Amino acid sequence: MAAQVIDGKTIAKQIRDEVKQTVEHWRREQFVPGLAVVLVGDDPASATYVRNKEKACQEAGIYSEVHRLDASISEDELLRLVHTLNQRPDIHGILVQLPLPEHIRSERILDAVDPSKDVDGFHPVNAGKLLVGKPGIFPCTPLGVIELLKRQDVPIAGRHAVVVGRSNIVGKPAALLLLREHATVSVCHSRTPDLSAITRQADILVCAVGQPELIRGEMIKPGACVIDVGINRKPDGKLVGDVCFSEAVHVAGQITPVPGGVGPMTIAMLLKNTLACAQLQRSSV
Ligand code: NDP
Repeated sequence: MAAQVIDGKTIAKQIRDEVKQTVEHWRREQFVPGLAVVLVGDDPASATYVRNKEKACQEAGIYSEVHRLDASISEDELLRLVHTLNQRPDIHGILVQLPLPEHIRSERILDAVDPSKDVDGFHPVNAGKLLVGKPGIFPCTPLGVIELLKRQDVPIAGRHAVVVGRSNIVGKPAALLLLREHATVSVCHSRTPDLSAITRQADILVCAVGQPELIRGEMIKPGACVIDVGINRKPDGKLVGDVCFSEAVHVAGQITPVPGGVGPMTIAMLLKNTLACAQLQRSSV
């Protein structure tokens, strides 16, 4: 039997509607959440991501402003902008779109963002909170993975979750969030010698690798829930995930498609994180 295909678009729309309702409620109390996005240079993919984030904020009623800066901006000038945004009471979330130009040390910029305004959840303070199990602001894509599982009623506690990929943006936080939900977690990466021996044990398989269709049908445990984070463009222009969907759909119990799975969840969770940051600052005044 073919797997149930998890509709990330519909779930993301539900979340965006919930965010919109909260914002309407807050606006009636004269409180408007605000997000500042910083875009440096003219990378077309980054420009598209930023436009989508701006549009999503508008639809949800969140105030947003985009700082479009020339690629030649110095690290110190960029830091000054981040410090200014940190101080502004009308801005509750700050997002610095990556990648930054080579002459700018991304780490220095991301570390300068006030952790309570860190909508991307990349600041070491928030990463540390995730590690030690404290509440904090956590990265949007892994949060989207957990939200998809929960809203699909996929049980997590006590199950074996395998995460392929160990980046700071997706793999590691996904593993920690699954651990927080009481899964037994394995993390695989490029040095894992026999990848399929591990992936075949997964009740929940999260793939965040960036290699088109690396995970074949025979690498999946029958009935497993497969969450494909990968977004890869093939030479023919087709968008595919890290999982070979046409094979996996006959083995898995549930599976996310690419596009239309995890992708739409990332922006939905960014909106949720903006509200979480706004709430943090609201309750601290
Ligand atoms: P990174 O390149 O930062 O990390 C990739 C990870 O995959 C690394 O840990 C690497 O291991 C591991 N890896 C690479 N090759 C293999 C292999 N053959 N077997 C096992 N592990 C391997 O990527 P990201 O985490 O940033 O992104 C991963 C994918 O998710 C990309 O396709 C990206 O486009 C997509 N993405 C999607 C988002 C969404 O909104 N849906 C958001 C963010 C990313 P090692 O550490 O050993 O090098």
